Amino acid sequence: MALLPILEFPDPRLRTVAKPVTEVDDKIRQLINDMFETMYDCPGIGLAASQVNVHKRVVVIDVSEDKSQPLVFINPEIEVLDNSVSEYDEGCLSVPGFYETVVRPEHIRVKALDRDGKPFEIEPQGLLAVCIQHELDHLNGKLFVDHISPFKRTRIRAKLEKKHKAEAR
Ligand SMILES: [Zn+2]
Repeated sequence: MALLPILEFPDPRLRTVAKPVTEVDDKIRQLINDMFETMYDCPGIGLAASQVNVHKRVVVIDVSEDKSQPLVFINPEIEVLDNSVSEYDEGCLSVPGFYETVVRPEHIRVKALDRDGKPFEIEPQGLLAVCIQHELDHLNGKLFVDHISPFKRTRIRAKLEKKHKAEAR
C-alpha cells in the first residue's frame, strides 16, 4: 500500500469530472487500498479518487470512530428522496483547516458497486449521508466551498494560496 498525495484547493485538477469505472479489477482494488491508507493517515472520513488525481468514479468512506466501517462506492449514483435538508459543518482534506456549514438533502438513496464490482443500494443516515454527497461532488469536479458564499470562498482561496506559496519556497 502507499500514501497518495492529496490535491488542495484551488488546484484546477480538482475540477475534473471523473469517468465511470468500466471494470472493477485488481488495479482498482489497489487504488482503493491506497485511498483507505491515505484517508486513515490524514485522518479523514472520506476520500474521492479525484482528490488523489485519479479521475475515476471511486469513493472510500469510514465515518466510524475506530476505523471499523470501511465503505467503498464505485460509480455511485444518488437519488434525493424528499425535500428535507440537513446542515453540517463540513471540512475537506483538499481544503485543509477550514470548516463551513453546508445545507444538503437529508434523505437520499445511493446505488453503487462494491470492491468486488457487485451492485448494492443503501439509504444512509446522518453524517454518512452528508459524507457521500460531499464525495460525489468531488467526482463531479465540485467542492464544498462551492456551496458557501463567494466571499467566504475567496477568503479561503487566498489563505490556501498563501500557504502553498510558503510551502513552495
Ligand atoms: Zn472533500
